[in-house]
Amino acid sequence: MRIDVLGVGFDNLTMGEAVDRAMELIHGEGVHYVVTPNPEIVEVCRENLAAKIAVNGADLVLPDGIGVIKGAAMLGTPLKERTPGIEFAGHLMERMAVEGLSLYLLGAKPGVAEQAAEKLAAQYPGLKIAGTHDGYFKEDAPVVEAIAASGADCVFVCLGAPKQELWMRKNGAATGARLLCGLGGSLDVFAGVVERAPKFWSDHGLEWFYRLCKEPRRIGRMMKLPLFLVHIKQEKKKK
Ligand code: UDP
Repeated sequence: MRIDVLGVGFDNLTMGEAVDRAMELIHGEGVHYVVTPNPEIVEVCRENLAAKIAVNGADLVLPDGIGVIKGAAMLGTPLKERTPGIEFAGHLMERMAVEGLSLYLLGAKPGVAEQAAEKLAAQYPGLKIAGTHDGYFKEDAPVVEAIAASGADCVFVCLGAPKQELWMRKNGAATGARLLCGLGGSLDVFAGVVERAPKFWSDHGLEWFYRLCKEPRRIGRMMKLPLFLVHIKQEKKKK
């Protein structure tokens, strides 16, 4: 059973369990997708029904950051641990590399996915990069066809939220891949275009603050964080 945090149902898994489940999905029948919402996306889902359906319709819903973990604990239904999308992706690539599975990278500005592909192929020997495409395309069909033609087992869809969740729900089946993962700005990090917060900041639940200092334009989006806390407190009172 999923743990409800303001209308988004999260799977209560450790990182190891989440990666095991993802590998089962890759080896299973049909298409599946993974989402990794943070408080900002939970707030988007409260306002946007299509986004909420796409997020809750995922086969794995993993809490990306400390905010969701704190929120779930405040509501009296704690989640086991945070499973940041980018770390989940790293573990998944390790496992895929061992089995020689193939990965398609979709998203980010032109050139970034290719750069990420080079770095990931070097970092995870055995992992096959099936192809890449930037995230600034107008029509879905040619992109879906390119992924299908590549024969990829898995696709990292990095278009930002909720665009990537809506995209996976609509186009996932036609890609022929068995697993799609919505991973926000991860390709920028894999390519080395954007740095992740140093360990100190993430260990103290302050990765969001580090990102805000580096990219002050995020302030508008981050105002959703205090709103999330207000909504959690309101929800707690109702219980
Ligand atoms: N992006 C994209 N297509 C779009 C809009 C965004 O490929 O139409 C990419 C953008 O270049 C960035 C990622 O999606 O690489 C979103 O990054 P952001 O840091 O906003 O996502 P988060 O990790 O916070 O969800």
